[in-house]
Amino acid sequence: AKWAKQEIREQIVPPVLRGEKIAALAVTEPGGGSDVANLKTRAVKDGDHYIVNGSKTFITSGTRADHYTVAVRTGGEGHAGISLLLIDRDMPGFSTGKKLKKMGWWASDTAELFFEDCRVPADRLIGAENAGFIAIMSNFLAERLSLSIMAYMTAQLAYEAAMDYTKQRQAFGRNIAGFQVTRHKLVDMATQIDIAREYTYRCAALMQAGKNPIKQVAMAKNFSVDVCEKVTREAVQLFGGMGYMRESVVERLYRDAKILSIGGGTTEIMKELIAKQIRL
Ligand SMILES: Cc1cc2nc3c(=O)[nH]c(=O)nc-3n(C[C@H](O)[C@H](O)[C@H](O)COP(=O)(O)OP(=O)(O)OC[C@H]3O[C@@H](n4cnc5c(N)ncnc54)[C@H](O)[C@@H]3O)c2cc1C
Repeated sequence: AKWAKQEIREQIVPPVLRGEKIAALAVTEPGGGSDVANLKTRAVKDGDHYIVNGSKTFITSGTRADHYTVAVRTGGEGHAGISLLLIDRDMPGFSTGKKLKKMGWWASDTAELFFEDCRVPADRLIGAENAGFIAIMSNFLAERLSLSIMAYMTAQLAYEAAMDYTKQRQAFGRNIAGFQVTRHKLVDMATQIDIAREYTYRCAALMQAGKNPIKQVAMAKNFSVDVCEKVTREAVQLFGGMGYMRESVVERLYRDAKILSIGGGTTEIMKELIAKQIRL
């Protein structure tokens, strides 16, 4: 939507926004995901086509997508040799693997993609040739903001479930929420979620004002993800044995939380970004 030529944008974006088509972003490769500048999938120009060879992995909506924005190497080594190509499911030489079995996020499919002499029309280039790295990085800001929101909202759901459960579950003649230790756990959850939410809003406001808050968004993601992991763990604990059962929502939230410190750039990569921004 941000970097493609107008014709491509008009053709592809509206059906995706209407929910009629599915789009996926394919950056990560079996050889590595954090080191984006080192990706290996190669696209070589052949007349008015690119010939693409390589593979991607862990791609969200991988088995179901109609269109894939694929990061490929069109130039030399490093970030200056990367471009983005919009590849359709039915293009010759493109195939997808099976739906991968995951710890959480079962409502979303994740798959490997394979390109074997895949012929892609040259006008499917998104942005300028060898300028793909900047496009990927600029889109990461919005993705990381969304992941921060997803993290505190996952925590919020777990907190609300824990609140309801502990108010009605009885032990030693009173409800569990009646114990001071439980109240303090719920207070800690509420405090952390509020702070994560407010800081994330601040990042959204900075983005809305046209700023590029790389450091703040990385901090928001790491903070919210940490809150999410702590809150979902405590929620399972407050549910006792029922927290370990598949029928409890907190069991799912606890498993779903783990991806948030990995996807969209890991916690460690966020810390490296913050370190650069504060000139460490
Ligand atoms: C469910 C799911 C959905 C995903 N969806 C997509 C998608 O739609 N599109 C897509 O392109 N990718 C997707 N990914 C991939 C995800 O972005 C990568 O898994 C992530 O970026 C990490 O890459 P990696 O798995 O290769 O880990 P690696 O890069 O191999 O890292 C392994 C460990 O080393 C650490 N590490 C690496 N470099 C450093 C460093 N410099 N300093 C300190 N520690 C370091 C990492 O933090 C991590 O802990 C998805 C992954 C999952 C699990």
